[in-house]
Amino acid sequence: MQLINPANGQVFREVDEDTTETISEKIHHLKRVQEEWAAVPVKERLGIISTFGKLVKAQRETLAQWLTQETGKPIQQARNEVTGAHNRIAHLQKHAEKWLAEELLEKEGSTQELIRYEPLGVIANISAWNFPYNIGYNVFLYALVAGNAVAYKPSEHALLTGFGFKSLLEEAGLPKGLFEVIVGKGEVGETLLKADIDGCFFTGSYATGKKIATQLAGRMIPLQLELGGKDPLYVMEDVRDIKQAAKNAAEGAFYNNGQSCCAVERIYVHASIYEEFLDQFLEEVRSYTLGDPLDETTFIGPLTRKDQPSFLFGQVKDALEKGATLHCGGKIPNRPGFYFEPAVLSEVNHEMELMREESFGPIIGIQRVEGDKEAAKLMADTNYGLTAAVFSQDKNRALQLLDRLNVGTVYWNCCDRVSPNLPWSGRKQSGVGSTLSYQGIRVFTQPKAYQLREG
Ligand code: NAD
Repeated sequence: MQLINPANGQVFREVDEDTTETISEKIHHLKRVQEEWAAVPVKERLGIISTFGKLVKAQRETLAQWLTQETGKPIQQARNEVTGAHNRIAHLQKHAEKWLAEELLEKEGSTQELIRYEPLGVIANISAWNFPYNIGYNVFLYALVAGNAVAYKPSEHALLTGFGFKSLLEEAGLPKGLFEVIVGKGEVGETLLKADIDGCFFTGSYATGKKIATQLAGRMIPLQLELGGKDPLYVMEDVRDIKQAAKNAAEGAFYNNGQSCCAVERIYVHASIYEEFLDQFLEEVRSYTLGDPLDETTFIGPLTRKDQPSFLFGQVKDALEKGATLHCGGKIPNRPGFYFEPAVLSEVNHEMELMREESFGPIIGIQRVEGDKEAAKLMADTNYGLTAAVFSQDKNRALQLLDRLNVGTVYWNCCDRVSPNLPWSGRKQSGVGSTLSYQGIRVFTQPKAYQLREG
């Protein structure tokens, strides 16, 4: 398999893909090592994860360079990710022991009722490339701490990072064979799902999530799906500072080149501030530097996937044909690599793909609304249900609207953010199940009920 640098389209390395035989060998080994790992006290498991975190921090620059080379993420953002994901480790250190401890629920006379949280076994962790540290840690670190073994299938676009995780986990003292990297594209993922796994935790697109759910139906193993989004932001007319609101909205839409599952994907603005908001938004986006992701000043690098610029160009074309106005960008620049100039469109509506289908790139539609009722209706008009945001000074008014939306996360005066304290979950086509928070560790366990009576 060839690894391609999105900044120049050149192959920089070739690796062997896993086969049915190598996958089955790895799973066999994972099963054996997991049995021993399950007997290791949680405190000791946490010690290894903590050392892993220190090694990652010490190697930050090399790891960030790899991430930039394989995904095109601007180097500053790559460094932020490598360091920022550490909050998952801190979260585990603080809470994992109590969340995995045995719970005595009732003691009456000679009868005791208690729960023990047993690991699931071998977890298939099939992952995406856009934030491999954050979304990887959400699954494999929590799974390991809960006593599982992990077959980690990084995205084919984040393999170097995957190899880095394995080598640093082992350097930190994780038993060899408890964390294996499965190398390959979609077909290799399919093969992994046929192996003797005890649970599947997937992060990626709705299309792939649906295939996986279909493939695993009937297996009776836990399946969790963290999928895409079409996340709306509504800017009310009472925002304290329109310029600041526009700056925050633009960052929510364009950070990591818009390749974030919770990126702002569509914006609704109250008619009374629409023009001013649009002007400020455009000023902000025009200030972004597009360029080589290794350049310290670059904010917009190349897209990770080769086909994505033409997909985005298609969304622009469709919107323009249906009456939208393009204010900036929207073109594929004439340079090597998978670049796309950040695009801002107004006069958009829900007839346009741009306002309905996940874009996952540096492109945004900004729609004028007359009030909260119209905004709420449009925000809910989607097959996805990951996040939704409102900017306003009025918390009650914002929450009245956000409470009614069928999404996993709501934001008031912030957006595009994930906290380890809170469950991260999607609804509808954005997925099933939660990572992070106490739920995000318990999902890697199966509760066993003990009903004990002195004889
Ligand atoms: P993708 O669905 O193309 O691929 C994800 C992973 O699935 C890759 O490792 C891929 O090799 C593997 N795969 C592909 N086909 C498979 C199959 N048939 N069986 C098993 N595995 C298969 O997604 P992507 O391009 O890597 O990531 C982008 C998507 O991920 C976006 O939709 C984004 O919104 C979503 N995402 C969601 C979250 C979240 O937390 N909800 C986080 C990050 C990304």
